[in-house]
Amino acid sequence: MSSAAYRYRQDHIPLSTPYNRRPGLAMTPTTITIHNTGNLSSTAANERAWLTNPTNTRTASYHIVIDAIEAIEVLPLNETAWHAGDGSKATSGNRTSIGIEICERNTLTGEYAQTLRNAVELVAKLLTANNWSVDRLRRHYDWSGKNCPRLMNQDGKWTGWKQFVQQVDARLLELKTNKSTEANKSEIATATVIVNGKQLPQKGEVKAGVTYVPIRAVAEALGATVKWNSSTQTVTVTQPEYGKA
Ligand SMILES: [Zn+2]
Repeated sequence: MSSAAYRYRQDHIPLSTPYNRRPGLAMTPTTITIHNTGNLSSTAANERAWLTNPTNTRTASYHIVIDAIEAIEVLPLNETAWHAGDGSKATSGNRTSIGIEICERNTLTGEYAQTLRNAVELVAKLLTANNWSVDRLRRHYDWSGKNCPRLMNQDGKWTGWKQFVQQVDARLLELKTNKSTEANKSEIATATVIVNGKQLPQKGEVKAGVTYVPIRAVAEALGATVKWNSSTQTVTVTQPEYGKA
């Protein structure tokens, strides 16, 4: 159902990045903080480039920036970034939260809608990976009172934010359901194997939709010989030439 489509890539800024944008402080994240970039035209690649642009004098960073085509991880998710605007005490958003910047490009053409779908997917995956639910989501606003993510507050009531959280929650449920479906698929069902009308005492197995049969039993029932070479992990089945057997 999800129509998210983006690639995820890492392009970490170096520890030597000026203005302390990568302080190198270890972080055990407990929440995810959502931002808008505050720039109506930049792409994720533009935002990443700005972090290492020599004319950038701001002590501001984040972990992941996402647009309609890609998500770029600019800092390891277990290091502090400066995105929450609430200082550096141990309980601050800066020291405890993964910062995600959502690009704002082309709010009218559908590009921003795609970016948002991608962000829903990214956030749902991050929550799933950490075994978290949407109660782990924060706005930049929650830490410092800044009107960010601003495009989720265009009516002054944070309606966009509430919708975003709902969409993430719905996607989380889907991911959970898919996971249990996958788990069911990986449960092994047995299969009866019949060779030339004769049922073999050995059972086959059905796993994730593929049927596995005991090759030696099947091949030997067909009059072939089976050799196993353990050093090369190779099974060789040889069918006697027709008429010679
Ligand atoms: Zn922000």
